[in-house]
Amino acid sequence: MSNQDYYETLGISKSASEDDIKKAYRKMAMKYHPDRNPDNKEAEEKFKEVQKAYDTLSDPQKKAAYDQYGHAAFEQGGFGGAGGAGGFGGFGGGFGGAGGFDFGDIFSQMFGGAGRQPNYQGADVSYGVEITLEEAASGIKKQITIPTYEECDVCHGSGAKEGTKASTCRTCGGSGTVHVRQAIFQIQQTCPTCSGSGKEIKDPCNRCHGEGRVKTSKTVEVNIPAGIDDGQRIRLTGEGEPGTHGAPAGDLYIHVSVQEHKIFQRDPDNPTDLHCELPISFATAALGGEVEVPTLDGKVKLTIPAGTQNGKRMRVKGKGVKSVRSSLVGDLYCHVIVETPINLTERQKELLEEFEQIATGLDRSQTPRQKSFWERLKDKFD
Ligand SMILES: [Zn+2]
Ligand SMILES: [Zn+2]
Repeated sequence: MSNQDYYETLGISKSASEDDIKKAYRKMAMKYHPDRNPDNKEAEEKFKEVQKAYDTLSDPQKKAAYDQYGHAAFEQGGFGGAGGAGGFGGFGGGFGGAGGFDFGDIFSQMFGGAGRQPNYQGADVSYGVEITLEEAASGIKKQITIPTYEECDVCHGSGAKEGTKASTCRTCGGSGTVHVRQAIFQIQQTCPTCSGSGKEIKDPCNRCHGEGRVKTSKTVEVNIPAGIDDGQRIRLTGEGEPGTHGAPAGDLYIHVSVQEHKIFQRDPDNPTDLHCELPISFATAALGGEVEVPTLDGKVKLTIPAGTQNGKRMRVKGKGVKSVRSSLVGDLYCHVIVETPINLTERQKELLEEFEQIATGLDRSQTPRQKSFWERLKDKFD
């Protein structure tokens, strides 16, 4: 076999991410898959190269060794590695055959067809947490209790009743998986008889009913960073479901939802900015004055200039939310609502009527909006 550079084989650069490597592998494996290239020795060879490259680059330890020493890193032990199991030699002509290399293994890994195998990594677990806008702005530590599993302490994970033993599953021969053909690929699926455990239990354990594990719960402290936005998630590595037989645990994903606030809304395009309505009186709008404005951490004073119109947006600097990625803090925007008073007293009516009498007959320079409104229609009514 040639020793082409593994990065070249997959058509990626040395800085490619784990995800890029996986994607490139998937693309190449599809392209050169023997089922798609029957009787094509070249494609077969390419496919093996692609597989070899991926075996190395997808394993952080092998990748590090390869990056440092190149192919020399593996010349001693050859490639017996994880998925390979010496299978490369057995390629011959009959793909997918009993003695040959098992494509199902690779493809199920790539396309998610595999179920839980006897010593598989624990599943990722998702959990939702709801916090207030204040908590999102300041950041908060939350203790959350999540359901999880632990090994049954009666049967120690075997699932068999005390004094009995589980036997090898007859459907899958203990592998936990069965192969099903789907379109051009052979897909590996969880064995329906043993649900992937590879074992058949005649007398199930009384405590776990043959599961080998029991439901329990654990408390995890989650550090929710200041500035987090609704819909964002936090990953806690290794806090998901435990793996079986020493395999690593899955990850725990905390999905954060931020409750709707009574007054403030976050800017959808710029989540560090907040918006709120600011109702002011008709007199304050006309005369100007100082008003109090609520913020997430107390009230501040804001000066309303004389002649403020309805809908004017006023900025309160630095009273938004801190960015989750940097130390930048957004602003609070108050949208002025000039409120028309209702349920007027007789005295108030008198004053307003007097005001209106004085105002009427002026040249509308005090009400530029009304002026321009009528001016736009000048030709129509003159
Ligand atoms: Zn048990
Ligand atoms: Zn089975």
